[in-house]
This record gives sequence, structure tokens and C-alpha cells, in this order.
Amino acid sequence: MASSASTAAPTQDESTQNSAPQPLQVAKRLEKFKTTIFTQMSSLAIKHGAINLGQGFPNFDGPDFVKEAAIQAIRDGKNQYARGHGVPDLNSAVAERFKKDTGLVVDPEKEVTVTSGCTEAIAATILGLINPGDEVILFAPFYDSYEATLSMAGAKIKCITLRPPNFSIPIDELKSVVSKDTRAILMNTPHNPTGKMFTREEQIAIATLCIENDVLVFSDEVYDKLAFEMDHISIASLPGMYERTVTLNSLGKTFSLTGWKIGWAIAPPHLTWGVRQAHSYLTFATSTPMQNAAATALRAPDSYYEELKRDYGVKKSILVEGLESVGFTVHPSSGTYFVVVDHTPFGLENDVAFCEYLIKEVGVVAIPTSVFYLNPEEGKNLVRFTFCKDEGTLRSAVERMKEKLLKK
Ligand code: GLN
Repeated sequence: MASSASTAAPTQDESTQNSAPQPLQVAKRLEKFKTTIFTQMSSLAIKHGAINLGQGFPNFDGPDFVKEAAIQAIRDGKNQYARGHGVPDLNSAVAERFKKDTGLVVDPEKEVTVTSGCTEAIAATILGLINPGDEVILFAPFYDSYEATLSMAGAKIKCITLRPPNFSIPIDELKSVVSKDTRAILMNTPHNPTGKMFTREEQIAIATLCIENDVLVFSDEVYDKLAFEMDHISIASLPGMYERTVTLNSLGKTFSLTGWKIGWAIAPPHLTWGVRQAHSYLTFATSTPMQNAAATALRAPDSYYEELKRDYGVKKSILVEGLESVGFTVHPSSGTYFVVVDHTPFGLENDVAFCEYLIKEVGVVAIPTSVFYLNPEEGKNLVRFTFCKDEGTLRSAVERMKEKLLKK
């Protein structure tokens, strides 16, 4: 009789040890994409003991009243699958919040879909509403998941570049890329990585173009509560736009709970149908107790949101003034918890080389922005820093840069 060791199926480790290394496999639709820049940079931060001003996650915790609500929901046995499109109380809380923010009244049952973070809401929107060959317009620099998800859907990307210092929308250029195949514009305000906020005039111009050409808008507004220099405007609230807009948002940034992965899509019923169909087969439903807690979070009093903005305003000043004193050209950021700077005064060849130098020689992590462009050359002078860290961490990072970064 064979020994149990020889008949047992090899464990993952045994089979890996015994076989020759295999070439990595990935479907063609994802072939061109690398490990996300955030994963790369956060692991380098740990390896080099560097201060992480790269990946946008707070190094402080979310509020107790929200954490307690999650613990209570778990204790109360809210632990089985949630309803696919969201726990009813959260759908209602999202609709209430949206009404407060935009004045729009939406049906929580028919127009709100809860997803696993905004990244899933984006994926469900794209996979549920975009056909292979449809054109989708992006504004570069753009958040990295947009391109990968559009590629999974077989969409054709048309890209408009926003340029420093103000990253304004070149409306004529935008008009020139709209064609009969344009299905949607995917926009993000306040904008990651630049901190640009789309002005009312810019949004009216986008809206007019979309109405004239029957184009949808997918609007990622996850930083809406971090609007410092102007009021946030949801494009869905402009005349004639609600019926052609999917508004995407999440809990993570507003409540410093990025690991909870609760997001949502708000859209009229005819667009919600596609979003929900994709969501049903991507994740089916999102964590039940966290959804219950998210409903409590969204009903936070106005004072919570005011304090959040005040605290972030202080952090922003520490970082922006610090970066200026180090010698960077800091581009104005109106919203989000990011700023982009021009690193060229320090004489490194490009953004990636600069970030490598910064991690290894200075001990600070930033994000090279070239990964947010179709043409990486366009981002080579810019790097992104985040200020979603406690004040001591921000000050230490500035100190390190002041000591070790020398202008060339
Ligand atoms: N949104 C975060 C950022 O821009 C990162 C999210 C992620 O790691 N995928 O930094």
C-alpha cells in the first residue's frame, strides 16, 4: 500500500517546489497591465521603511460611532448574504444623502445599487452598459482602474489630457473626439491625482455635449466631501443630465474606512438595470454588517463632515507648505487628499526615477503619475503626494525631504 504521503494530492507548496517555474498567465484583455502602482509603492514603503505618502489610505482610524454600528450589526446576526442591490436601510441612506447634497430625489429601491467599493461600482457600470467597440472618453491623468476595466469590457478609449498648472478641460478638444460611436464620458471630480475640481462652466459644457450627442456620463465622485476651494457639483444635478448619468461614490474616503469597500451607483432605472445585472454576477452582494454600519455613517450630522474638512485643511497646509519649502512647484489642488508637484528642480530623469530616489535615498513614498496616462511621457514631470496621514507623519516626511533632497 502506498504511503499516505505519496497518494495525497500535493499541497500548493509541494507542487510549486517540485515543478519548473511556469510563465505567468493572463488573458489578453489584461496583458498590458502591470501590478497596480499602489501595490508596488506600498510594498516598497514597507521594504525601505519609508514614510508612505503614496497610496491614498488614512493612517488613522475611522470614527467610533461607525465602527460600533458594524460590531452591533454583527452581534445582531446581520451576517448572511445581503439583498443583491443593497441592504434596504443603506439604499435609503444613500438616497437621503444624495438629496441633501444635490437636491435630487431618487428612489432607493430602483435607482441605488450598493457595491463592493467604488471600484466595483465603476466595473459594474462599465461592464453593464458598455459594448465591445463602444468609445469611452477619459481625462488623463486618470485613476488606474478605469483603463483596465474598459479594456475588460472591450471598449475603445479616447483620451483628453488635462495639463498643469490648472488641469482645465480643453472643451474644443473634447468636442473634437466625440463621434457617433461615443457611448460615455468617464469623469472624476474632485479629481485623483491632480486635485482639480470640474467647474460649473466645464460641467455645463460637458453636459451640453452629452445631451447633443446622446452620450452617457459615469461620474466618480468619491472625494466629494473633500472639496476645499469650491463647492462640489454633481453633473447629475445639471438640467437634462440625471437621465444619462451614473453617479459613483463610496464610504471609504469620507469615513476613513478604505478597507470596508462599500460603494454605490446612483442612476435612473433604465441605467441601473445594466449596472445591477453586472453587479449580480460580479459580487452578487456586499458585506451585510458593513452595509448596516454604512447607513449609520451616511446619516452623520453635518458637524462630522465639517470637522473632516477642517482636519484635512490643516493637513493639506502642512504638506503643501512643506513641499513648497523643499523646493517643489506645487500645482493647486482644490479637492481630494492629493497634490501633484513638478519634481524637475531635483534633476531626476522622470517621475519613476524620482520616486525611486525618494524612497531609497530620502525615505518617502510618492506616486509617479505617468501610470495615469495613455502616453506615459505626459506624466513624466509630475508626482503625487497624499496628505491623508496624521500631522506628525506629514511633518516627518517634509523634514526628511528638507534634509536630503537637494536641488540640482
Ligand atoms: N484610491 C487610492 C489612491 O489613489 C488607492 C486605491 C488602491 O490602492 N487601489 O491612492
